[in-house]
Amino acid sequence: MESSCNLLVVLDAGHGGQDFGACFMGRCEKDDNLRLALETQKQLSFLGIPALTTRASDTFAPPAIRAEIANKTDADLFISLHRASSPKPNEDAAGIESFVYLTSPLETSGRAAQLILSELADAGVQRIIGVSRGNFGVLRRAAMPAILLDMGFINNEIDNRLFDINITAYAGAIARGAAAYFGLLTGAAFLGGGQDCEGNGTGARAPEIKTLLCAAGQDTWRALRQKARCPFALGYTV
Ligand SMILES: [Zn+2]
Repeated sequence: MESSCNLLVVLDAGHGGQDFGACFMGRCEKDDNLRLALETQKQLSFLGIPALTTRASDTFAPPAIRAEIANKTDADLFISLHRASSPKPNEDAAGIESFVYLTSPLETSGRAAQLILSELADAGVQRIIGVSRGNFGVLRRAAMPAILLDMGFINNEIDNRLFDINITAYAGAIARGAAAYFGLLTGAAFLGGGQDCEGNGTGARAPEIKTLLCAAGQDTWRALRQKARCPFALGYTV
């Protein structure tokens, strides 16, 4: 099992400042992306995985800088967080989609995307669209496995409601998917039908980090305790 202390995830909160991203009814992507990035950073820290965000407030970071932050810090995984938008509101377009760069290997970026989506599938979503290839600048520039997540459509009211209700679950799912990608946590808790510490079936794997860790067993606990000495980058941004 790899030591998570040596790992680093860079979470890119898409847009920011004068770049609002997609907006709908006064709600803008940049704010949702930041909320989710900060919550995901927290959830990763619960799993012993250091993470930093490309911004910690409503500031603008040029797209070229975002991947550069990950490159300069020699990050192991780059996750760019966005929300999608369809031409007309509340159409059939709904759900969560992940992108990897046009030429990204499926066994690295593609696998990370798949693992995260399979966790998100149980975190309260309308649907999982799947993994696609996309020509995104941040993904092209990132020198490490990199994915972009479109976390539901900002002009779909159901997606928005689910996003607000389940934001902690979404962040937990992204964190667990990343942990699975790193090989830090495996087993029943990741395959569904996991049990909590009392042996009760949990069904929902979403926000129950504690449940997940119980199910993962003592070795994982020990490993995580060890990793708790990491100087966590919680709240830290470049
Ligand atoms: Zn966006």
